[in-house]
Amino acid sequence: MIVEKVHNKRLKEKGISICSKYKANGILLERNTDKSKKNDNIENGVCLEKDYYKDDKLLAKIFNFDPRIKYTYISANNGQNKITCPNCGNTSKESEIEDGCPYCGTSYNIEFSDKALGSKYHYDRVIQGSNYKAITLIIDIIISAIIVYTYIINTCRTFNVYDILKIIIGTVILSLILYYVFYMVDAVAITLPIKIYKDSLNKKQMKFWKRMEALGINKKTFYNNVNYELQNYYYGENSKNKNVIDYDVIDYTSLNEQIIEDKKILVTINMQIREIELINNTINENIQKREFTFEKSNEQTINIKAGENIIKCHNCGASIDVTKSICNYCGTRVNSYQEWYMI
Ligand SMILES: [Zn+2]
Ligand SMILES: [Zn+2]
Repeated sequence: MIVEKVHNKRLKEKGISICSKYKANGILLERNTDKSKKNDNIENGVCLEKDYYKDDKLLAKIFNFDPRIKYTYISANNGQNKITCPNCGNTSKESEIEDGCPYCGTSYNIEFSDKALGSKYHYDRVIQGSNYKAITLIIDIIISAIIVYTYIINTCRTFNVYDILKIIIGTVILSLILYYVFYMVDAVAITLPIKIYKDSLNKKQMKFWKRMEALGINKKTFYNNVNYELQNYYYGENSKNKNVIDYDVIDYTSLNEQIIEDKKILVTINMQIREIELINNTINENIQKREFTFEKSNEQTINIKAGENIIKCHNCGASIDVTKSICNYCGTRVNSYQEWYMI
């Protein structure tokens, strides 16, 4: 598939395969970069887990994906589609094709029949950190101990070993009673400001998309293009990120547009990205704050249909790989199928 091409190339170089697990409509589904394994169609799925393998050995499991980001990957025939090369007549399975016809080299440019590579939907949920209960318990014990200690010191005439015992037992009993109270107080004190903050971010993004819709900009196309450009940023030939084997957008923090002379549309996105690097056979996970600007192209783009697309160079007639910017044979510039470019 066009959108996975540069990523698959990087994974091949590093000997890595990724198993991504999704949940869609209550069903667990799986996609593997190793084409001999399972590749389910996913519709509006939430990513749950990613497993990284090197030579079939599990290196790492990654969790904590944003449930507000939905993924769709629907291929025409689950990769089993047989394709007959219009140039040499050879038949090959869709899943066996990387760059085009394995015999004569014609570029097929195979695309999903539907895809949404991480569109964000605007509802929010406050996700409680795993250490939230532990912090509440510590605060609870400290405060309970202070109360019991103050009480005992002020009520007993002599302070001895039994009083220490009383303090310990009293603290345990009081902290058990107070835990629920603290839990509820913390829930309001800690999560309410987060909820208010996230709600305001969501409202801003909803307003952004209203303005974009008025300009005729399609959200799904936008996110797909952003993701395609990110793939080039991380895995492209001129990429500076040679150790990155995978990335995931954790959150789109903000989206802001700039319209220059009624023509040029620029969108700046601030996002949190989890970058997965492979260094000396170990997986490093880094969560980065990144800012990227995208410009909407005013040029005509190549219309890609579902399944295979054979696109001929208008100059020499050779079949073109749309992921390259020029014709491999004569060097003529190729129109892209992207509407948005990273600048
Ligand atoms: Zn062929
Ligand atoms: Zn050409």
